[in-house]
Amino acid sequence: MRTVVTILLSGLFAYGLALWFSLVIWTFNDIRARSQNIVTQLMGTSIVLMFNLFGLLLYYIIRPSQTLAEAYEKSLEEETLLQEIETRHLCPTCSQRIQDDFLMCPTCFTKLRRQCHFCSHLLQPEWSLCPYCGR
Ligand SMILES: [Zn+2]
Ligand SMILES: [Zn+2]
Repeated sequence: MRTVVTILLSGLFAYGLALWFSLVIWTFNDIRARSQNIVTQLMGTSIVLMFNLFGLLLYYIIRPSQTLAEAYEKSLEEETLLQEIETRHLCPTCSQRIQDDFLMCPTCFTKLRRQCHFCSHLLQPEWSLCPYCGR
């Protein structure tokens, strides 16, 4: 009877140890995908190492919500959004959309650009000389 209990207990112990070990490995891999900071990585892993399942729960709460790949993707998205806003020009008077090469706003007739008499490049109205041909 005693041996059965011993076998059961050691089996349970081995199971717990394996579970604990795989939790630590999982956490380590997970935190590495979320942070490049070695301190954060060590902290996340050691929480699970010390507190096991409860530590995993804690780790779930405090871990960075985004993985590095997700954060990178998001920053790319924001960048393209920013670029879109930059390339989308608006009339300074009526805020209607205008194109880069419009001479006048088609809605309110504000003068947006003028054309160089010599080389036909488009110039900002406030420029006193043409930067393209120097006149
Ligand atoms: Zn306008
Ligand atoms: Zn010119």
